[in-house]
Amino acid sequence: MKKIAIVGGGIAGSSIALYLGELGLHVTLFEKKETLVDGPPICHLHAGGNLYREISDNQCITLLKESIELVQMYPCAIDFRPTVIVVPTDDNGTPQALFPRLEKLQNEYSTLIDKDIKNRVLGDSKDYYKTYTKDDVLRLKSLDILDNPVTFDEWMIPVTKSIDLHKVKFPLIMVQEYGINIFRLAANVTLGLMDIKNANVCTSSLVTKISTQKDGYILEYKQKEELHVEKFDYLINAAGFKSGELDDMLGLKRERFVEFKAAYVTKWKNRILLPEIIFYGKRGTPQGMAQFTPYPDGYYQLHGMTEDITLFKDGLVKSEYLSSQPKLDEKYVNKIYKGWSRAEVDERSSLAIKHIAKYIPSFIDAEVASKPLYGAQQIPGRDSTLRAADVSFDGKRYARCEIVKASSVLGMADAITKNLIELGFVDQELYGSRFFYNIKSFTDVNITKIAKELCMKREYPESLASRTSSSLVL
Ligand SMILES: Cc1cc2nc3c(=O)[nH]c(=O)nc-3n(C[C@H](O)[C@H](O)[C@H](O)COP(=O)(O)OP(=O)(O)OC[C@H]3O[C@@H](n4cnc5c(N)ncnc54)[C@H](O)[C@@H]3O)c2cc1C
Repeated sequence: MKKIAIVGGGIAGSSIALYLGELGLHVTLFEKKETLVDGPPICHLHAGGNLYREISDNQCITLLKESIELVQMYPCAIDFRPTVIVVPTDDNGTPQALFPRLEKLQNEYSTLIDKDIKNRVLGDSKDYYKTYTKDDVLRLKSLDILDNPVTFDEWMIPVTKSIDLHKVKFPLIMVQEYGINIFRLAANVTLGLMDIKNANVCTSSLVTKISTQKDGYILEYKQKEELHVEKFDYLINAAGFKSGELDDMLGLKRERFVEFKAAYVTKWKNRILLPEIIFYGKRGTPQGMAQFTPYPDGYYQLHGMTEDITLFKDGLVKSEYLSSQPKLDEKYVNKIYKGWSRAEVDERSSLAIKHIAKYIPSFIDAEVASKPLYGAQQIPGRDSTLRAADVSFDGKRYARCEIVKASSVLGMADAITKNLIELGFVDQELYGSRFFYNIKSFTDVNITKIAKELCMKREYPESLASRTSSSLVL
């Protein structure tokens, strides 16, 4: 049987290992860390790309389609809570400017449901989004908050009571943009791969050298200080922000960016459950977008698209002529591999809390709960705003996973399968398969158990392993 090597056990590498493993291929997944999916954060599903005003409608439609498939693949990792989009008064944009795109997305979603009812994973297409005028908001403000909100209106009640209504433009928009949980994704792929006999998972295994043969590749890897050499028929580079290092090992040129970013974990004594809230703002300015992401038990993850919160000075770097691997400043590499000082965690988390408190005033008494979720990601090509990307190929037997968002993993899997069909490694009729046999049998309970263990091991609060809502918003 043909042997496939996958270097990198993030969401890209682990998902393609699961996918090809389920097709019956012999796959070996190499991951230098002890556990899978332990890279940069993954918290928003991006079912419609509504968090990005700056990207094209086509990218948003691609993200919508891909997200629907990701929900079907990893349902236990999805947090089914909606997102409220707010245009603040100090922003140049208007909520009305967002309507044409929302309508396009709604129509696209409706077409996808007409094609296959199984695509209805975000509820009815007519309920993809809803707008709230000032009068609607004031009416909801007089109602009681519910412990387990189910409808858009029920989720909106606590928003109307929490945000400073003088600082927002109307209408507010609520959309079926769900959350996705990195610890639960990690639990899914860990359990899933355990069940596939033809999938060999090598954790704590660093690939150090690759040489090209006429009909494959020879990989050298270090596993617990022992050096191993093995030949493979096909190579998949899923090394995330280190993908350029593999290209360099192979002497291949590929342009890409690498960006270091962070999101902050806070705890708020106000235990009301809010949905995700996005306050738009221009990226890289002091008014950069603020993102408020709920977890259970009063935990909130915060992004602030300013240079002193989520973004970092010179944190975005691009590859140069002599190397396909963009050179991230040493101080950010150290943060990734050695961690943060307590002072840095406190300083940036406090700024993140203040950034959110501009719009949710009572959030000012939130506290730092743990180290941030952080890391570096790659963006292929020359456009650093690209958000929907999947894979590129070089030669007949080499694929590079280049996802920017987790939702793109199935588009990536299809493209790689097509390449493997051309090589005669896979039967044509398996193209576009969506088996996910073993993942479908997982329950909320077994995923939560493993996700909690991963949270503890990675030194994050256990509550980050759970979701705020496990059923569709109506
Ligand atoms: C702050 C922040 C927030 C984000 N939020 C979201 C979000 O909400 N939603 C979303 O979809 N995306 C989000 N992203 C992007 C997302 O995290 C990445 O796009 C995604 O993790 C990429 O997955 P990957 O598998 O390609 O890479 P990674 O997760 O980086 O995995 C690559 C793996 O390869 C391993 N590796 C590298 N070199 C070798 C080697 N030589 N040998 C063995 N192993 C190796 C690494 O250890 C790593 O585990 C965010 C990114 C950041 C930085």
